[in-house]
Amino acid sequence: MTPAPPPLALLLDFDGTLAPIGPTPDDIAVTDDLRELIAEAAERLDGRVALVSGRSLDQLDALWGRSLWPVTVAASHGQELRHDGIRRAPPLADIFPRLIREVQARFPSSDGVVVELKSFGLGLHYRLAPGRRDAVRAWTEERAAEHGLVVQPGDMVFELRLPGADKGDAVRTIMRLAPFSGSRPLYIGDDLTDIPAIEAARALGGSGIAVGGRIAGHADAVLASPEAVLEHVRTVLQGSRRAFIT
Ligand SMILES: [Mg+2]
Repeated sequence: MTPAPPPLALLLDFDGTLAPIGPTPDDIAVTDDLRELIAEAAERLDGRVALVSGRSLDQLDALWGRSLWPVTVAASHGQELRHDGIRRAPPLADIFPRLIREVQARFPSSDGVVVELKSFGLGLHYRLAPGRRDAVRAWTEERAAEHGLVVQPGDMVFELRLPGADKGDAVRTIMRLAPFSGSRPLYIGDDLTDIPAIEAARALGGSGIAVGGRIAGHADAVLASPEAVLEHVRTVLQGSRRAFIT
């Protein structure tokens, strides 16, 4: 007997995916049809529906109103996250002040490594101590692995920052949360920024659908328009107890 496939999670881009793009960013409409469909999806999939958008959370709230409440939202390309009605971004931001003490123990000021505390990151500059490069790199990589952070190498600096700079990070973050964890993500998007998200979904055992031709080569299937996306989501929801096959 084959084990039951993991349940489906829907991760959706907004502009150009759920609604047609207008001449200006303000020319986009959240129709009643779309609101109803998203509400139905959230209900049928036990909350495993997320919007993954380059827009800010405030922008999305202004456009969607309360119909966005039952949905997990990764906004600003993943820099902002709202889950279970709680703004979680940046959930790990307080980690950087806490890491300061560890840095100071590892690299005392006599070492020449300059530590820069940022809002969402911690920079370790080794310009004054180039010989410490490998040690700084190893330390930041270890902390990143330990705390789920990302290492951003720069000009004589290694910076620890929060994940979430792209939609792939957003997908991985969402898929670690209940009720998403253990499910199979289906990501739908239309633009270049959606490519890392599709790749993340596939790496997690899911799949990706492109809307229009721009990123068709990166997806498992292509839908022609936002209208076709809504129709497809309706079909998926009707069969949501079965494995989704693109
Ligand atoms: Mg888009």
